[in-house]
Amino acid sequence: PEPILQVRDLTVHFYTYAGIVKAIEKVSFDVYKGETFALVGETGCGKSVTSRALTQLIESPGRIVGGKVIYYSEKGPVDLLQLSEEEIREIRGNEIAYIFQDPHASLDPLYNVGYQIAEGMEVHGRIKNIKEGVKKAVDILRSVLIPDPEKRVHNYPHELSGGMKQRVVIGTGIANNPKVLIADEPTTALDVTVQAQILDLINELKAKYHATVILITHNLGVVAETADRVAVMYAGKIVEIGSVKQIFKNPLHPYTKGLLNAVPNPMTKIERLEAIPGTVPNLITPPGGCRFHPRCPYAMEVCKQKIPELVEIEDGHFVACHLY
Ligand code: SF4
Ligand code: MG
Repeated sequence: PEPILQVRDLTVHFYTYAGIVKAIEKVSFDVYKGETFALVGETGCGKSVTSRALTQLIESPGRIVGGKVIYYSEKGPVDLLQLSEEEIREIRGNEIAYIFQDPHASLDPLYNVGYQIAEGMEVHGRIKNIKEGVKKAVDILRSVLIPDPEKRVHNYPHELSGGMKQRVVIGTGIANNPKVLIADEPTTALDVTVQAQILDLINELKAKYHATVILITHNLGVVAETADRVAVMYAGKIVEIGSVKQIFKNPLHPYTKGLLNAVPNPMTKIERLEAIPGTVPNLITPPGGCRFHPRCPYAMEVCKQKIPELVEIEDGHFVACHLY
């Protein structure tokens, strides 16, 4: 498989009054062209921070303090973290686009949806003017299965249902035909039937445009249905990476095992990862060694001292745990 992104030792800290929050530490993974790669973990594990940091989308008091994000663009490999604000803006929303969880936050209530889609195309020089963009927006609304797109294109966000709004958000995400689409909990705010429709839609669009999808979710059912490969995050670190089959059939990390045990049948729609005793650690003073050791039923002395590195146990299946 050919990588489109190679993330190495990505580290983001937040400088708060209470102290330095080590939100993600030395996060490394590859994303292959054309796949759906899921980042999974509990709220606060760093999955959203990771996805945002890929294009330097970290706001103060956060800061990317280390690492590389090699993007294999058509012009050749480039480290996205070394680009100027202006250079990364050309890529973000264009070659690498986001779909965020909350349509209320992603859509501007003051503009109709056609204008909002068109504006995103205009900033990247994809269209000559807004008028042309609004015409294209009709096609985009049609491709995200919005009924009556010629009429809907003039609607304001408040005139649309939650599911329709999220389709519009997906429309803004795909308007520039991105190479990489990063979907952060794209269905969390929606009810179960609409969730399934939105996931089907992302899958269809991916097949149609040959895009690579990075899916951020806490929902293992969504992972099982949608992803090719998975990275499991815990407390700002990646603890396991593998194919969906490897992770679901042969989970290695005690945290991954706990997640799967908490979910008797991962194919059913589960809303929360829970039932692992203990609490997620405070990331100002994370536990030394393995960050999971206070909750791990297999913890050994070495686990408190030494940070486990990700090692490849079987083909493409990596785990960061001293048991291996
Ligand atoms: Fe548990 Fe130790 Fe493995 Fe961490 S390194 S998951 S504490 S066994
Ligand atoms: Mg999040």
